[in-house]
Amino acid sequence: IRQTPHCAGCGIALQSDNQQSPGYVPMASIDKDDTICQRCFRIKHYNEASSITVDQDEFLKLLGSIASTESLVVHIVDLLDFEGSLISGLQRFVGNNPVLLVVNKIDLLPRVTNWNRMRNWVQKQARENGLKVADVVLCSAKRNIGFDRVVEAVTTMRGKRDVYVVGATNVGKSTLINRLISDYSDLKRELTVSRYPGTTLDAVHIPLDDGHSIIDTPGIVYSSRLTELVSRKDLGAIMPDKPLKPMTYQLNAAQSLFFGALARFDFVEGDRQSFTAFVSSGLTIHRTKLERADELYAEHKGTLLTPPEVADLDKLPAWTRHRLRIPSGKSQDIFISGLGWIQANGTSGATVDVHAPRGVKVMLRDCIL
Ligand code: GDP
Repeated sequence: IRQTPHCAGCGIALQSDNQQSPGYVPMASIDKDDTICQRCFRIKHYNEASSITVDQDEFLKLLGSIASTESLVVHIVDLLDFEGSLISGLQRFVGNNPVLLVVNKIDLLPRVTNWNRMRNWVQKQARENGLKVADVVLCSAKRNIGFDRVVEAVTTMRGKRDVYVVGATNVGKSTLINRLISDYSDLKRELTVSRYPGTTLDAVHIPLDDGHSIIDTPGIVYSSRLTELVSRKDLGAIMPDKPLKPMTYQLNAAQSLFFGALARFDFVEGDRQSFTAFVSSGLTIHRTKLERADELYAEHKGTLLTPPEVADLDKLPAWTRHRLRIPSGKSQDIFISGLGWIQANGTSGATVDVHAPRGVKVMLRDCIL
């Protein structure tokens, strides 16, 4: 009887069904000797990591093995989806290993952002989420902003240890690893992807010159992020690629904002005040009276209100309503994971409702800006 073939690079069981899943190889190569999976292949031949994903359970199994190693854990999060992409419970799994929090995509925030204040905000949010971080660096892996500080922090913090890179999907983990590979390894030498004896970590080891490795782990899928629920096409519309253009609305109570047909914000109760939306410009915001909102949605979802288009509407879970009370004396963000946030600028308090596909994380938080 033939055994399931395994990748000669990372040890994962090979499969030809799903290109985004671990262990993918084209059907024609699966039975050959010394086959390596597509992810190992890309690193070996192109010095380039690409995204693969797993669900939370598989990911936690992988994380569990980090505690018994001596390593530096680089946790990369998306600044625009901070609470959505933070791996809650990371602390329990990494043992005593230090965590470097790399906050990516800072190029998407307005240029005038006060980065010192932002760093403090990140530190506080991480702490409140139970994550003890040894250091925080802000960067843009794609636009190469602040990356020298990432390299510096990794170099000083790892000493002579392996570096595990962990993150949710779409946070820019591959982009970051590709930069690390080109900054760190000797490109004249062909990279070899090496399997650690006796382990099938489902993680790719990219060797460094000192005998240690950068270890690329699969991206974790959280269904609480809108970006995981929409189609590939709509992902392009809701994930910004250019700096956010904040949109401010002076609203009276009983007015609503639609974000395409993906979410709705109702200002239910409170004095007239302003709200600033920080979402991708690929998304149309439509303002209406609360009493007209249901009707408008019923008539215009998928047409006036897009994305998604009509054909994709029923692929999303039905909306649920989140009632949030913003206390007086303090302005807060209404955070919708994968979509962005709405800053409530008033300080006289407000009651708001957010309607969003079931399962999407919706919460109040301290203002990021
Ligand atoms: P992974 O799934 O975490 O490996 O993420 P990728 O590296 O594949 O990146 C996901 C998406 O985010 C891609 O469209 C990238 O171009 C984009 N991206 C990655 N880093 C940045 C960044 O620093 N700024 C911006 N604006 N986009 C980024």
